[in-house]
Amino acid sequence: MSLESVVVMGGGVAGFATARELRARGHTGRLAIIDPEGLPYDRPPLSKQYLMGTQDAARLAFEPAEWFAAHGIEVVHGTAAALDPAAGRVTLEDGTTTDAGAVVLAPGAAARRLDIPGADHPGVLELRTRADADRLRPHLRPGARIVVVGGGLIGAEAASAALALGATVDLVEPVDPPLVPVVGPDLARRLHAMHAERGIRVHGSVPVAITPPEAASPSLSTPSDGVRPAGGASPGVVPGPRRVLLADGTALEADAVLVGIGIVPRTALAEAAGLAVEDGILVDAAGRTSHPRVFAVGDAARTRLADGTLLRRAEHWEAALNSGTTAAAALLGQAPPAHGAPWFWSDRHGVHVEGVGRMAGAGTHVVRVEGGVPVAAFLVDDGGRLTGCAAVDGGLTVRAARRIIDRGIPVDPAQLVDPSVPLKKLAR
Ligand SMILES: Cc1cc2nc3c(=O)[nH]c(=O)nc-3n(C[C@H](O)[C@H](O)[C@H](O)COP(=O)(O)OP(=O)(O)OC[C@H]3O[C@@H](n4cnc5c(N)ncnc54)[C@H](O)[C@@H]3O)c2cc1C
Repeated sequence: MSLESVVVMGGGVAGFATARELRARGHTGRLAIIDPEGLPYDRPPLSKQYLMGTQDAARLAFEPAEWFAAHGIEVVHGTAAALDPAAGRVTLEDGTTTDAGAVVLAPGAAARRLDIPGADHPGVLELRTRADADRLRPHLRPGARIVVVGGGLIGAEAASAALALGATVDLVEPVDPPLVPVVGPDLARRLHAMHAERGIRVHGSVPVAITPPEAASPSLSTPSDGVRPAGGASPGVVPGPRRVLLADGTALEADAVLVGIGIVPRTALAEAAGLAVEDGILVDAAGRTSHPRVFAVGDAARTRLADGTLLRRAEHWEAALNSGTTAAAALLGQAPPAHGAPWFWSDRHGVHVEGVGRMAGAGTHVVRVEGGVPVAAFLVDDGGRLTGCAAVDGGLTVRAARRIIDRGIPVDPAQLVDPSVPLKKLAR
């Protein structure tokens, strides 16, 4: 495989990290990032500071345009439409082609859509891109009524931002509490309860239809007031108020509806190119797809280990970044960088949540309580090893937990629950 040139498809954190690492590790050949959104930018602020108006668009960019010029990284504004792995040829939607010795697929994931009548109305929003945040932001103001469908990480962050900006918020989430596999049952309960404590109305149900405000019947399956056909907003259609009908009979009036019910990896181009795909573009631990010339990284990729074990797709920022640096090393034939146990963070209602490792599956849940509330949760396996930790406003605890997990240090559950024992002490 020639490394005279590398084309990276997608300029999210995974694609950007791949390109930056290739240069840092000495790749001097042609390097291009193709992305319809142009200059690579970061997504986590879209449901936090950017949505709240405390961070501007320029600060979303990983680096300014001059940095890309200085590092000889072309940023191609375009959408890759097809890939010929054998030729290393990427065809863009506008028909232009670009050839490369190696191609890195980093297209991320799309928001999962609600499959109910009315869900394709332009007043029904999602939150994956800067443009999505720009559509949502004007609705988040005093007096506005926002319905958020989905109480996972992004739904919860957006609901919290909407509330902080003065909107009236209804949160629809059938699972009580959500996020148990991510933070364990105790912290999940605490975090979910915060919504109601802060004044969000939480509905343990599911939406069955989204209609115009005046239409109360869930049987109204084809609302006629400007609903766009599937596949994109019609020009001139103004998103208007909606009524969200729930399975339990509740009708929620909304100025905007935000749907945050998970993501679907973008695999269509890889599949059409004949690459192995299974809920993600299948890659080995180094990011190699089933074709030696093509790598895949980030939310779109799913790792199959050498022994055949299929890992769950990671959907967090640091995992995407790490997959990019790993792929860059592999492309250059260099030793892979070492990464710690998987880590994520989330912010809502003024608290900072972090988690590391695995909080689901076999093991015993151990909880640290301070002032009557759970502040940290741990999962300990049968061999007395820590497999995961999550904490609210406990960054130092999570950092120490990561060291304990990475080093396989045995833990004593009695010390984990004891708030007077700094976790750092157990990490030595
Ligand atoms: C609103 C929001 C908040 C988040 N908050 C957190 C958080 O607090 N903590 C955390 O750990 N994680 C968070 N995440 C998750 C994290 O941001 C993602 O895991 C990460 O962005 C994945 O990186 P990626 O590069 O794989 O994909 P993305 O960042 O989604 O980037 C993919 C890029 O590929 C481009 N693309 C798609 N198709 C094509 C094509 N055909 N041709 C060319 N380019 C294409 C897209 O335009 C996009 O720029 C958040 C995500 C979102 C959306």
